[in-house]
Amino acid sequence: MIHKPKKMIVANWKMNVTSEKDATGLFLSIKNVVSKLEYTTMVCCPPHMYVNQVAAHVDNKNYRVGGQDAYPEESGSRTGETSVLMMKNAGAEYIILGHSERRHLETKSDVSRKVTAVLEHELTPIVCVGEESRDKNWKKALAQQLKDVFNRVPKKTPENIIVAYEPIWAISSDKKTPATAVEYMEALEVIKKELQKIFKTATAMSKIRFLYGGSLDDKNIEDFLKNAEVDGFLVGRVSHDPRILMTMFRLVEDHMQKEMFPQSS
Ligand code: PEP
Repeated sequence: MIHKPKKMIVANWKMNVTSEKDATGLFLSIKNVVSKLEYTTMVCCPPHMYVNQVAAHVDNKNYRVGGQDAYPEESGSRTGETSVLMMKNAGAEYIILGHSERRHLETKSDVSRKVTAVLEHELTPIVCVGEESRDKNWKKALAQQLKDVFNRVPKKTPENIIVAYEPIWAISSDKKTPATAVEYMEALEVIKKELQKIFKTATAMSKIRFLYGGSLDDKNIEDFLKNAEVDGFLVGRVSHDPRILMTMFRLVEDHMQKEMFPQSS
C-alpha cells in the first residue's frame, strides 16, 4: 500500500447561507457522509455569525470549521470586526485570508498581519493568492504577492500553513473558466520557488499544503486529481450544493483508492 495524505476540501460558503437554521442544516446534510470518508477531510467556512453553531456539531476528525476572514488584534475599538481570538473561541480552526473578494478592503500588509495573528493563535491560515490574468507579467505579480504576504510572517511552523492558488480569472462565475491542472502546476512552480526563497529552506515546501480554487466542481476535479500535485481544493459556488459536493467526495475517494491500491484497480 502506498500511503497518501488525505485530500482537503475547503467549503467557502461566502454569504450564501443566511440563517442559523440554513447553516446548521447544510452542515448536517453533509456531515454523515463526510464522517465516513477515508481519504478526504472537509473544512466548512460559514459566515462568521454561524461559526459557533456549526462548530457545535463537530464530533468527527474528518470535518472542521473555519472562518472566512479575521481581524489580527484580539479586541478593542474596531467596529464591525471579528478578531482571530473570537473566531478561535467560536470553534474555528482554519481562517481563509486574502481572498480575492476582499482585496478591495485590505492591503497585502493587512493580510500579512492576519496570517501572523492566525499562526500565533495556533490556527491554520488558508492564504489565497492568484493573479488577475495570464498576461506577460503574471508570474512576477504572483511572486510579488507571496513576498508581500509571507516576508514578515513567522517561519517556524510551515506545516500549519495552507496556500490556496486561486487565479482571479477563474473564480466564481459561469462565464469564467477554471484553470487546468497544467496551469495550476505552472503557478505552483512559481509559488514554491518564491516561498523557498522566503522560508530559506526546501523542507518547508514539503510541509506547506497547496490547494487549488476557482470554478471547481464535479466536472473538472478529476483533471486536478489525475494531473496535478495538489493537497486539496477550495470551493465556493458549489460548496453549498450537497449533491455536487457528494459527487466530488466520491471522485476524490475513488481516485485515492486507486492511488493507494494500484494493483487492485
Ligand atoms: C472562491 O471564491 O474561493 C472560489 C473558489 O469560488 P468558486 O469555486 O465559486 O470559483
